[in-house]
Amino acid sequence: MLVDTFGRVATDLRVSLTDKCNLRCTYCMPAEGLEWLPAPELLSDDEIVRLVSVAVGLGVTQVRFTGGEPLLRRGFVGIVERVGALLPRPRMSVTTNGIGLARIASALADAGLDRVNVSLDTLDRDRFQQIARRDRLDDVLAGLAAAEAAGLTPVKVNAVLTRGVNDVEAVPLLRWALEHGFKMRFIEQMPLDAQHGWTRDQMVTAEEILARLGEAFVLCPVPDAERGSAPAEEWLVDGGPARVGVIGSVTRPFCGACDRVRLTADGQLRNCLFAREESDLRAAMRAGASDEELGDRMKLAMLAKRAGHGIDDPSFLQPDRPMSAIGG
Ligand code: SAM
Ligand code: SF4
Repeated sequence: MLVDTFGRVATDLRVSLTDKCNLRCTYCMPAEGLEWLPAPELLSDDEIVRLVSVAVGLGVTQVRFTGGEPLLRRGFVGIVERVGALLPRPRMSVTTNGIGLARIASALADAGLDRVNVSLDTLDRDRFQQIARRDRLDDVLAGLAAAEAAGLTPVKVNAVLTRGVNDVEAVPLLRWALEHGFKMRFIEQMPLDAQHGWTRDQMVTAEEILARLGEAFVLCPVPDAERGSAPAEEWLVDGGPARVGVIGSVTRPFCGACDRVRLTADGQLRNCLFAREESDLRAAMRAGASDEELGDRMKLAMLAKRAGHGIDDPSFLQPDRPMSAIGG
């Protein structure tokens, strides 16, 4: 098992398939993009499947593909198919900006993908362009519809609110999600942008999000017992059964119940989004390590997992890699 020194067990593996992206969300990367990882450093499809297989052997039950933009990975459907053939079969989902999902959703469902999380911060075309620096709102909406039609449900929609930009959209986004049967979740902005531009005052807090939603809806907290290790705190909307989730990573951290571990597109295992150290599984694998040795490295990396992200500590340092290169 992938256990840390605080007794937390990692069962949820986030696998980044690429650090590249076709959007440039302001809270994630600069307008000019980033220096992408060189191709030889990226794990091959075989290497990804092998590392996931080792992790499944150590108790991982949930695999979430992410990036960068995971749909940009050419062999994605094949990877899903092969991970879905592992025993015991892990549940599989993808976190995507939705561009290209319309084309690939049914192939992903056929390959065994269970669910999708689509990131969408606004329903307004101009504002979409302002936030993502690309005019692609229609592609995202088409992707969402295709995911629903392909049965990749429940479709979750993740929004990051930015003060003075789209914070006024909390209520319209939730109303729209309720109409379409999507599960809406709002995420606090974290200090993980490549430009290091995050500031606490710019962050729209969970409390503010709830206050805004509370102006239009009656929200009733879902008991913590139902939350488990899920990052989102949930509220029943207008008596339910619909729910809304708020992920207060900064102001309401859930590190004590964390069950996540991350694999970057270049084969580094990270025990936390905010970790400052990584375990180089790619180098070990390419030097001929056996599955057992790779598993031992994974277990060792988990032992170094810290109690929490420490964003509030005076000594907090933003990790060297931005969110898009870690896998959010
Ligand atoms: N490109 C895909 C997408 O946008 O869904 C997957 C990768 S993206 C890094 C994963 C999630 O992280 C998205 O929901 C995005 O909004 C969120 N994200 C990116 N930068 C963030 C930040 N600084 N704070 C909080 N969430 C962030
Ligand atoms: Fe790309 Fe996702 Fe980052 Fe936006 S949040 S720039 S879609 S990786």
